[in-house]
Amino acid sequence: MNPKFLMRILEKTDLKTKLRLAKVITKLGSGDDIVKCMLCPNMCLYACPVFDAEKRLTVSPSVKSRIAYFGGNEAIYHCLPCDACKENCKMEISVNDNLRNLRSGKYAEKIDSWLSKISKKIDEREGRILYFPGCRTFEAKLFEPTLEYLEKIGIDFAVNSDIICCGMPYFELGDKRYSEHFSKLKKVASQYEMVISNCPHCVYTMKGLGIKAEHMFSVMKPLKIGGSISYHDPCIMARKLGLVEEPREFLKACGFELIEPAFSGRQTACCGYGGVYRLLYPENAEKIAERRRKQFESEIITACPACKKALNAKDLVEIVLEVL
Ligand code: SF4
Ligand code: SF4
Repeated sequence: MNPKFLMRILEKTDLKTKLRLAKVITKLGSGDDIVKCMLCPNMCLYACPVFDAEKRLTVSPSVKSRIAYFGGNEAIYHCLPCDACKENCKMEISVNDNLRNLRSGKYAEKIDSWLSKISKKIDEREGRILYFPGCRTFEAKLFEPTLEYLEKIGIDFAVNSDIICCGMPYFELGDKRYSEHFSKLKKVASQYEMVISNCPHCVYTMKGLGIKAEHMFSVMKPLKIGGSISYHDPCIMARKLGLVEEPREFLKACGFELIEPAFSGRQTACCGYGGVYRLLYPENAEKIAERRRKQFESEIITACPACKKALNAKDLVEIVLEVL
């Protein structure tokens, strides 16, 4: 549908017709998501962490869709894979999903250099279940504690050094090399019964590739600890994997009293460190992280290495390992 044509009609119609047209627009197919979004008066603006940090309409959800429709510019990179827009959109539109298709791999060298900095030599081991840490687990210093934990609870797990990044950063940037990562990941994963990972985004990526993958906490066992803590829902974990109650049940089984922060469950607030936004615009990502940190009054526990780093939080693995 040509948006200029639609705009011309809208200009000339009375309110009643405009409302009727709005109903038609919401019924357009998903292929027209950009058109639907660009005609929306930014209804999810209040939920967008990037707009909140940058305070520029140019990077607001609906305006980014408009920019994307007319060819795109730098604004199409100013997005997180948080899907707060989708969660608060009547038409369930993910702005980041739409923008991703228009990105051309610009900035991929930043991913190369970041990956080369955090990559480390890891010792391989054989086992039935593949433990795939994902690149952010190394950065959050969660790799060694997870190895120790898995060994202590007697999981028959493997570590494979052939691939350390699932390819998500390249995928988010539209760099074609993501397909090499995806193929390699599928090949490596096919050698094992299943894959476990600390990173919700890795799990989500692998599930999308048809790999049998689960978040680490699916193999974890609760231990009596006790105390008061707050759980931060990682966006991907809550909104894309649908895991909201399960980590809470785990923490309650550990004897914790949960103090819910402002914005939790599927209405969580992004930590700012997801996707590639932090690698491109670190100062803005830090503003988002700072805002989220201020929403907690007690110790923060989470289940994602990116959130852990952003919020100075502890991971589920770390709190259980402390008493094991
Ligand atoms: S994502 Fe939905 S609510 Fe947000 S601006 Fe687009 S159409 Fe409007
Ligand atoms: S995906 Fe997140 S950052 Fe991007 S427009 Fe939607 S709410 Fe804003």
